[in-house]
Amino acid sequence: MEEDYPKSLLELEERFNTEVICLEYLRQLRWPQGFICPRCEASGAWYTQRGLYHCQRCKLETSVTAGTILHQTRKPLTLWFRAMWQITSQKYGANALGMQRVLSLGSYHTAWEWLHKLRRAMVRPHRDRLSGVIEVDETYVGGKKHGKRGRGASGKALVGIAVEDKGVEGLGRIRLQHLQDASGANLEQFIQAIAEPASVIRTDEWTGYKGLTDKNFQHIVASSNDLKIVHLVAALLKRWLLSTYQGAVRPSHLAYYLDEYTFRFNRRSCTFRGKLFFRLVQQAMMVDPAPIATLKGPALPFLIGTNNLNLDPMDSDLDHNM
Ligand SMILES: [Zn+2]
Repeated sequence: MEEDYPKSLLELEERFNTEVICLEYLRQLRWPQGFICPRCEASGAWYTQRGLYHCQRCKLETSVTAGTILHQTRKPLTLWFRAMWQITSQKYGANALGMQRVLSLGSYHTAWEWLHKLRRAMVRPHRDRLSGVIEVDETYVGGKKHGKRGRGASGKALVGIAVEDKGVEGLGRIRLQHLQDASGANLEQFIQAIAEPASVIRTDEWTGYKGLTDKNFQHIVASSNDLKIVHLVAALLKRWLLSTYQGAVRPSHLAYYLDEYTFRFNRRSCTFRGKLFFRLVQQAMMVDPAPIATLKGPALPFLIGTNNLNLDPMDSDLDHNM
């Protein structure tokens, strides 16, 4: 499908104003070559009066949104489209309170749930690996005390960061991952997951990176001061977590915030916000449903930065109630 997306909020609202139009747009993204049965992969289907696809081979009745992030939603798709526009059109991201206001959602909880579902759609399944020269480091987010490397520190979360070094062109794509600790096993697993084999991996002299050569990478050891691009990304990430989420991020949710940041960072030069919207809708059709039970984390607030932050009271309430 050609990349067809609205260029402005006005265009979005004028164009996607009925359920039928939204469904048709989703159908083209989910099945660009025509219907494929999610159970038996046959291509023939009858379109029923209730708007369902009835597989001619296995008789499964399914819908465009079944088995996707919009699985069994009771809210209008027109509203979901606005939510997706809202989350992609803002430079720094959307928080639940803002989402609730803009969409006039009755409950803060719904806004929060939608944001978390949409964050899951921000990572494309089976996405490409980074390649070329990649700078890798880890950084702690959260907590007040300095953590000891390799062991993990209480109240802090360790994030693995990988950035493509494009030389004169500057920074390429990034990948981020919440790591349990900076052991060799964890770091190697992270790098193997995000980098093409035989890539050049530049790190500092930490022992956790010593085994990379054995894993079929070219390993360049630099002094920590020379890892400029990965340190830049670490600083930008921390600033973003502070400004967008007022520091209120729970460890169980950190992976989704990292995915959101990666989505935004890797599309930072994108001129049209509508293109981000297009990607998000497209990926929403590719990822599995996220039932509400899987969105809940432990009831411990996790603060990034210091205690002097103005925490959104709604966020604090939510942390204690769930
Ligand atoms: Zn079938």
